[in-house]
Amino acid sequence: ALLSRIARKETPRGNASPGRDFSTLPAARDIAMVRAGAEQMEIPNPFFRAHEGVAGGHSRIGNRDLINFSSYNYLGLNGDPRVTAAAKAAIDRYGVSASASRIASGERPAHAELEAALAAHYGVEAALTFVSGHATNVTVIGNLLGPRDLIVHDTLAHNSASEGMRLSGARRVAFPHNDWRAAERELASQRRRHTRALIYIEGHYSMDGDMPDLARFVEMAEAHDAWLMVDEAHALGVLGATGHGIAEQQGVDPKRVDIWMGTLSKALSGCGGYIAGNAMLIDILKHSAPGFVYSVGMPPAVAAASLESLRIMQAEPWRVEKLQRMATLFRDEARRRGFDVGASAGLGIVPVVLGSSIKAGRVSAALFEAGVNVQPVLYPIVPEGGARLRFFISAEHEEADIIRTLEALSAACA
Ligand code: PMP
Repeated sequence: ALLSRIARKETPRGNASPGRDFSTLPAARDIAMVRAGAEQMEIPNPFFRAHEGVAGGHSRIGNRDLINFSSYNYLGLNGDPRVTAAAKAAIDRYGVSASASRIASGERPAHAELEAALAAHYGVEAALTFVSGHATNVTVIGNLLGPRDLIVHDTLAHNSASEGMRLSGARRVAFPHNDWRAAERELASQRRRHTRALIYIEGHYSMDGDMPDLARFVEMAEAHDAWLMVDEAHALGVLGATGHGIAEQQGVDPKRVDIWMGTLSKALSGCGGYIAGNAMLIDILKHSAPGFVYSVGMPPAVAAASLESLRIMQAEPWRVEKLQRMATLFRDEARRRGFDVGASAGLGIVPVVLGSSIKAGRVSAALFEAGVNVQPVLYPIVPEGGARLRFFISAEHEEADIIRTLEALSAACA
């Protein structure tokens, strides 16, 4: 009762007439309850904090310099002067916007150059970029598959993939996280009844920092006549000795994956998504995926910045090595201090599972006071009891940052 009283006070008032009142939406009630809980526990809102400069291994928030673990600037390329210069040069030449869909009004050289570089990166025939990573999954999964098809996916699939699956109308079957045997059982029993099948997995899971056994999924896709799609959002620039992703990390030929998906917003310090695969797939998407055909082309400056980031990533593998070294140090040192880091491979993402949402909120707030910015991941995004702090490591972190952070974490949890 107290919570709903606070919730009513905090939440903007809706339109009073029934049926037109936004406050009756389930989301409005959820938001109000979370706010009320935070207010009662005196936990400051950790969301929508304004960064006053480049958010990398460190960031300035509210006039304070913090060690930052809440940005996906894995390789420290956002803010790199060469990346910024590439973006500025593209703005000088092309302006800020692509001004319309590429199919309708034409593209800029940076679009094709970036796509050729992404295709070469995976050693596949072609690639296509979209204005958002989220939109890429929605439009590609949502339109390649239809109601007569089957999608077998990891239970931890990202929201963008789940939305695409829903849109497709295909039969969806989730298998327990990383359980390739369960995935294969589903394919064996259901594949026959469907026209096409897609297996969706991620190269590096963002909640747990762990990986699937790629070779097993490649083999089962081949055996059951299914397409294999791998989302590399958190794998590009993070996994493999030179950041090529899960195929490099696990020694699998990338050509054996039918659909590579990734985002430009993380290691490549841009914004947008991509698909890489064979020329026929890319041609079909280029002429039919609604999120491409009916949406503006990516701003040329963003394409130029991501291309420059990809070049630097390839030329400076020390960044990938440093990121992985810092992440392994973080994971091992956290474990040594008795924290639950789950199945993290210690390559870029390290969750520290704290239990209740209240505890995760409180510890995140205490760390913020101590000079560390890290986001809590709360129920219902993870099951209650599985609330965590999610540390995104960057090549810009130093050993001293990691040790200072873990000392502050130990103190906050004491
Ligand atoms: N796929 C995965 C696995 C992701 O984690 C994300 C973003 N967190 C996306 C897709 C969407 O990418 P973007 O944020 O670049 O739109």
